[in-house]
Amino acid sequence: MNRIRPFAYFEAGTVSEAIGFLAKEGSGAYALAGGTDLLARMKLGTLTPRVLVNLKRIAGLNEIGREPGKGLRIGSLVSISGVERSPLIRASHRVLAEAAGGMGSPSIRNLGTLGGNIGRASPASDMAPSLIVLRARVLVEGLRGKREVEIDGFCTAPGKTVLDPGELITGFLLPDMAAGSGAAYMRLGRREGMDCSLAGIAVFLTLSERDSGLKDARVAMAAVAVAPMRAKKAEQVLLSGSLTEERMKEAARAAAEDSCPVSDIRASDSYRKALVEVLTYRGLAKALRFAKGATA
Ligand SMILES: Cc1cc2nc3c(=O)[nH]c(=O)nc-3n(C[C@H](O)[C@H](O)[C@H](O)COP(=O)(O)OP(=O)(O)OC[C@H]3O[C@@H](n4cnc5c(N)ncnc54)[C@H](O)[C@@H]3O)c2cc1C
Repeated sequence: MNRIRPFAYFEAGTVSEAIGFLAKEGSGAYALAGGTDLLARMKLGTLTPRVLVNLKRIAGLNEIGREPGKGLRIGSLVSISGVERSPLIRASHRVLAEAAGGMGSPSIRNLGTLGGNIGRASPASDMAPSLIVLRARVLVEGLRGKREVEIDGFCTAPGKTVLDPGELITGFLLPDMAAGSGAAYMRLGRREGMDCSLAGIAVFLTLSERDSGLKDARVAMAAVAVAPMRAKKAEQVLLSGSLTEERMKEAARAAAEDSCPVSDIRASDSYRKALVEVLTYRGLAKALRFAKGATA
């Protein structure tokens, strides 16, 4: 553990104040939310910010509520345990609450935020796959005003997002799930609670009312590419006919083909690909049960 290098520290009272600080200080200035990732990297000496802008005192960013006609809005400062426990999220987008419940340790979940999880742009983010299959929109604010960005493609590489300098994530908008939909998140880490995922897979299915096929299918993966990504071949397989056992197995194999993991100290690339196949199949089976009305 290194000694943390000196840095300037600002506490923003509003989003515009935070944006102003970040824009004025330029590169070397970082937004600070829960600090679980940022401070850990500073202690390791792998990140040496000149300036930290603390967002935690900004009112309203830790709220969860419904936006009429749009869906569910989750503020960027909502903690991971807040996502896990929210009755609103559990009622309408349970897969996100379940992904939150399986992430990190209780202390990491209590401090870490949803905005920080996506702002960090870790390839192994446990929240990104569920947000991707739920078609979340990222609410962004910067010097040039507000914009909404699709979560799919928001993280582009380790530590890189489509945010412009000085822009902040203020929240996430989740459209309501159509009737006959079910979703599931499956992950495996080496040591649950203290290690990031070796692979994390989110699956979303909407049953067709007309036949035994699907109206919609989305599969997204983490920890198996430079950024969280969709498994598009797997989605095509799922949408190509009746949802039989064989088609689910074929889709799971296609997801493994879609993935491009690296070998590292945690696991080899071939192990991760095998894991993608297993977790995708299990995720499909679970999402299908929920789509058919199961509650557990
Ligand atoms: C022991 C341990 C276990 C962990 N386990 C997991 C795990 O299982 N799964 C997982 O996904 N992650 C895990 N993490 C990583 C991390 O804790 C989470 O990603 C957490 O959600 C980060 O949120 P934070 O609020 O603490 O972010 P911070 O540390 O405050 O910030 C992280 C990054 O995001 C940026 N940022 C923060 N807020 C915003 C915003 N509103 N707009 C734009 N940028 C922003 C910061 O500038 C910084 O670059 C773990 C970390 C540790 C130390």
